[in-house]
Amino acid sequence: MNKFILLAITLICISFSLSGQNRFDDVQIKEYKLTDQIYMLEGAGGNVGIYIGEAEVLMIDDQYAPLSEKLMAKIKELSGGMTTKLINTHWHGDHSGGNENFGKAGAMIFAHENVRERMSKEVVRGDQVSPPSPDIALPVVTYKDAMQLHFMGEPVLISHVHNAHTDGDSFVFFPESNVIHMGDCFFHKRFPYIDLNSGGSLNGIIEAVEAAAMLVNDDTQIIPGHGPMASKSDLMKYHTFLTTLRDRVIAHINSGGDEKTLNAAQIVEGYEDWSWGFIDAEKMASIAFASLSSKD
Ligand SMILES: [Zn+2]
Repeated sequence: MNKFILLAITLICISFSLSGQNRFDDVQIKEYKLTDQIYMLEGAGGNVGIYIGEAEVLMIDDQYAPLSEKLMAKIKELSGGMTTKLINTHWHGDHSGGNENFGKAGAMIFAHENVRERMSKEVVRGDQVSPPSPDIALPVVTYKDAMQLHFMGEPVLISHVHNAHTDGDSFVFFPESNVIHMGDCFFHKRFPYIDLNSGGSLNGIIEAVEAAAMLVNDDTQIIPGHGPMASKSDLMKYHTFLTTLRDRVIAHINSGGDEKTLNAAQIVEGYEDWSWGFIDAEKMASIAFASLSSKD
């Protein structure tokens, strides 16, 4: 190979790895205390929930691999201990990217069976390729519909919802503490991503939110997959958005409209503030259209 080309490739690789590192270098892990035992941790990626026991910590989601050390340090600071049990709300890398590190540190990982299935194989979504995860990163306890743990005497309900954000989503509910982690079935104050390539659907998300609404009350503290802490009334606002989105897109389809004639501004009218870097109005409208016009 021409040595200039080789040099150019090397420089590109170095700059990629540097920028990859920089992205997480400045991230600080911030904690929000919900109860004496439960905190939400915010860094980069999905929100993390932790339940601090006497000598061990139950963790829900673990963000990206480069943040594991910072998360472990924060957990140590808050609890004096480490994560022994880890639940993944779904397979996406911004929620399960730390699995390998936490698995190596001794955490037992729990998730819906489709999470293990997807993480075991290479997954191609558009131009994004996710390689298979090493064994140590895979959930070792899987379930089909639901399971219950007992952690430090408190029941922990892990409940699967079908074809919502993906085909492997779970909620984690602590009925005695009245706290729920909803994973990416709830994006708070921002448009949701629905991963149609991983079995997600708009109708499934609506059903998932309805299922969660039956579990919670006005005092429940709700940890969304992304965005700030929420209450039941925030969840119901999100439900109104989702059903409004569905009804507007269905009206468009029923009037013979196609994706080209979709007016994104009209479809998300009243919710413009929820546009963010990853999902803007156009992307939200087109995901909803694709989901509702799919024959699956
Ligand atoms: Zn996700």
